[in-house]
Amino acid sequence: MPNKPLSFAQRLLAWYHTDGRKDLPWQRNRDPYAIWVSEIMLQQTQVSTVFPYFERFLDRFPNMATLAQAPIDDVLHLWTGLGYYARARNLHKAAQLIQTTHAGQFPQSIEKVIELPGIGLSTAGAILSFAFGQTHTILDGNVKRVLCRHRAIEDWPGKTQVHNTLWEIAYQLTPEDRAAEYNQAIMDLGATLCRRSKPDCTQCPVNQDCVAFAENTVSQYPESKPKNKKPVRQTFMLISINEQQEVLLERRPPVGIWGGLWCFPEASDTAQLTISHQLPEFRHTFSHYHLDITPVIINNTAKPNSDDNSRLEEPRPTQWCKPSALPAVGYAAPVRKLLAMLAKQPIALS
Ligand code: SF4
Repeated sequence: MPNKPLSFAQRLLAWYHTDGRKDLPWQRNRDPYAIWVSEIMLQQTQVSTVFPYFERFLDRFPNMATLAQAPIDDVLHLWTGLGYYARARNLHKAAQLIQTTHAGQFPQSIEKVIELPGIGLSTAGAILSFAFGQTHTILDGNVKRVLCRHRAIEDWPGKTQVHNTLWEIAYQLTPEDRAAEYNQAIMDLGATLCRRSKPDCTQCPVNQDCVAFAENTVSQYPESKPKNKKPVRQTFMLISINEQQEVLLERRPPVGIWGGLWCFPEASDTAQLTISHQLPEFRHTFSHYHLDITPVIINNTAKPNSDDNSRLEEPRPTQWCKPSALPAVGYAAPVRKLLAMLAKQPIALS
């Protein structure tokens, strides 16, 4: 009698055993805190980018208590450059919640974990399976790509119906035992062989029944989000410089774009301001719009207010900073770029 063919999970696990990544910094032990931090950093960010951020974060905040007690500026500072800052704010908020409602221990039930800010079902499943060996299914970006190709799933995975289909397939494929290894294996497959571009299908342990591979249509999956033309917004960043060559920064409110980060005050027009120079305009692109930024040096050292500052109950905190010796707080990416430029080429005051 011929042998029963190996299941998807069995082939994947055998490959993981010989070729999977087992020495990532967050795999050194099963500390749920470190695994949680890594999973949040890995959302929307590649492993190689995460390495140095993860090491610095764990050096500064080695456990739940240190993170919960830290000022948000310190947390955002260590996140500067990683993007999607809501992840850092949620991590901080969740650490405080875990301190107060779970006695500092990462909860072990999936219902409790998904109540924490910034943790969805897939991330919760990954943390609980890696930290506590529980059986849960995951569906992150890497897994979606593998499944879309393997089953030739048409349409954009962000559509509810496609998303639900992918969850169903993911549940069916996850083995009851060794779920943690399986989850790591399928993430690894997506990150190393079933890559976004130039996947290495000939080395793939599940290529024998991969529909897209058989049909030579791998590059068609997963389908991209239908393109909406991104709107373009304009803003002026107002750079005040004092005699000590310090610039004025303000902290944005905790929610919204660049929440909690330090930025130059902004204005939608400059009619009321005395401008001494205008620097070249540049574009910063968010997931849902482009922001065309015109940095202007304004000719007085009075504190300019951002356009919408007056509507806030609390005035925004401000501080004068030397671009060459910045305090350890979080900065929005375009602000960091302008500060680096000002540190290199100080502007002469007129
Ligand atoms: S055969 Fe290619 S497309 Fe199919 S799962 Fe493997 S790497 Fe991905």
